[in-house]
Amino acid sequence: MENGRLGGLQCRECGRTYPIEPIHVCDFCFGPLDVTYDYPALRQTLSRETIERGPLSLWRYWPLLPVERPSEDDGHRVGFTPLQRARNLGKALGLKNLWIKNDSVNPSYSFKDRVVAVAIKKAREFGFATFACASTGNLAGAVAAAAAREGMAAYVFLPGDTEESKLVHARSYGAQLVAVNGSYDDVNRLCSELADAYRWAFCNINMRPYYSEGSKSLAFEVTEQLGWALPDHVVAPVASGSLVTKLHKGFGELQKVGLVAEGSVRISAAQAEGCAPVAEAFLAGREAVRPVRQPDTIAKSLAIGNPADGYYVIRIVKETGGSMTISSNEDIAAAIKLLAETEGIFTETAGGVTISSLKQLVASGVVQPDERVVAYITGNGLKTLEAVESVARQPVHVDATIGSFEGTLGLTPPSTPVGAAPALVE
Ligand SMILES: *Cc1c(COP(=O)(O)O)cnc(C)c1O
Ligand SMILES: [Zn+2]
Repeated sequence: MENGRLGGLQCRECGRTYPIEPIHVCDFCFGPLDVTYDYPALRQTLSRETIERGPLSLWRYWPLLPVERPSEDDGHRVGFTPLQRARNLGKALGLKNLWIKNDSVNPSYSFKDRVVAVAIKKAREFGFATFACASTGNLAGAVAAAAAREGMAAYVFLPGDTEESKLVHARSYGAQLVAVNGSYDDVNRLCSELADAYRWAFCNINMRPYYSEGSKSLAFEVTEQLGWALPDHVVAPVASGSLVTKLHKGFGELQKVGLVAEGSVRISAAQAEGCAPVAEAFLAGREAVRPVRQPDTIAKSLAIGNPADGYYVIRIVKETGGSMTISSNEDIAAAIKLLAETEGIFTETAGGVTISSLKQLVASGVVQPDERVVAYITGNGLKTLEAVESVARQPVHVDATIGSFEGTLGLTPPSTPVGAAPALVE
C-alpha cells in the first residue's frame, strides 16, 4: 500500500508534476498544486470493510490522505463526527431527507482540526519544528491545539479584529499569537513572505496542498455514514474555497477507487454579505472573482476578501448543478437560532451562513424537497456568542421564591398535588 500510493504534486492548471515537498505553487504558471494518488492501486487495496475496521477518526481514510500510516494515538481524535438526521429542521424548511454533518464537536470545535491533523503530521514527516498559520479565527485554535499535543512551537497570525473568544481560546494552548493590523489578506501576505524566510510549516501556505486534503474526509465520512451512498446535494460555506474544492475531489475519489457507484453530487456554496466575492461573481455569471478590500460581516471565519480557490468553487458549483447564496448578518443570526431550536445544534456564524443558504436554496427551488441533502456545520456556537445574544430567547429574572417565579411566568401548579402521583417504576 505504502509504495507509490502517493503520486506526487500536480499543478491544477498546466498539469506539471512535482515531488512531495513543502511547496504549493507551480513554478511555471503559479497554479495551485494538488496531491495525486495511484487510484488503480488503491482500487485493489481499499475496501469498505478495511475502512470500517479503522479508527473512529479521519485516519480511517488515511490511504486517501497524503501521510504515512498513522499510529494508534496519532494526534487528537479528529473527525468521524455525527451525521444527524434533521427531521425537525427538514420539516421547517420543507425537506424530506436532510442531514446535518456536525463538525462543531471536533477537539478545537471546528472543522479546521481536520486540515490541521493532516498538515501537522506531514510537517513532522518533513522534519519541521515550528508550526504556523494565517487564520481568520478557527485555524488559530486548531493549530495551537495540535502544536501543543505534538510539542511543536506555534506561531498564529490573525487579523486584529478577530473575536475575543477565539483569541483567548488559541492563546490558552500556549501558542504565540500575532495580531496583525489589517485584514486577513494582509495577514496572508505577511505569512507568505515569512514562509520564504523561515523554515516553518505554514499550514495554509507552504503546507497547503497537504492541509487542504484534510477537507476530503468530510466527503468520505458523510458517504460512509449514509451507508456508502453519495448524497444528492451538499451545502457548505466558502472562505478561501478550499473546503468546497476538496469536497468535490473527495466525492470523486470515492468513485475512482470503487468504494461507491458512479454518481454525481450537487454542490452549493454559501457566503456572507460584506464578504461574498465568489457568490457575487457566480450570481453575475462571471468566473473572475473581484477581491473585497474591507470585509465586513459577523461571519469572520469566512472573511477572506481574495479567496485562493474562489475560481474553482465557481466552476464546481456550475458543473455540479448547485448554486450560491449571500446572507446578511440578520439572516445568519436567525439561522443559528433556527438550527439550535429545531435540532439542538449550536453553531457559530459560519454555520448560520450555511443554514441560511439552505433556506434560500429551498425557497428558490435549487434544493428539491426529495433530495438527500447534507448541510455542513463547520464551527461551534460558543465561539461567536455575541452573534445571537440579542435574538436568543431572553431569560426572566425572579426572586428565589415560588411566588415570584409563578407571578413572573404566569404559571400555576397542576391541581393534583405532586405527592399524590403514582410512584415511578424504577
Ligand atoms: C475556515 C472555515 C471554513 C471554510 O474555509 P475554506 O477556506 O473555504 O476551506 C468554513 N467554516 C468555518 C467555521 C471555517 O473556520
Ligand atoms: Zn502550472
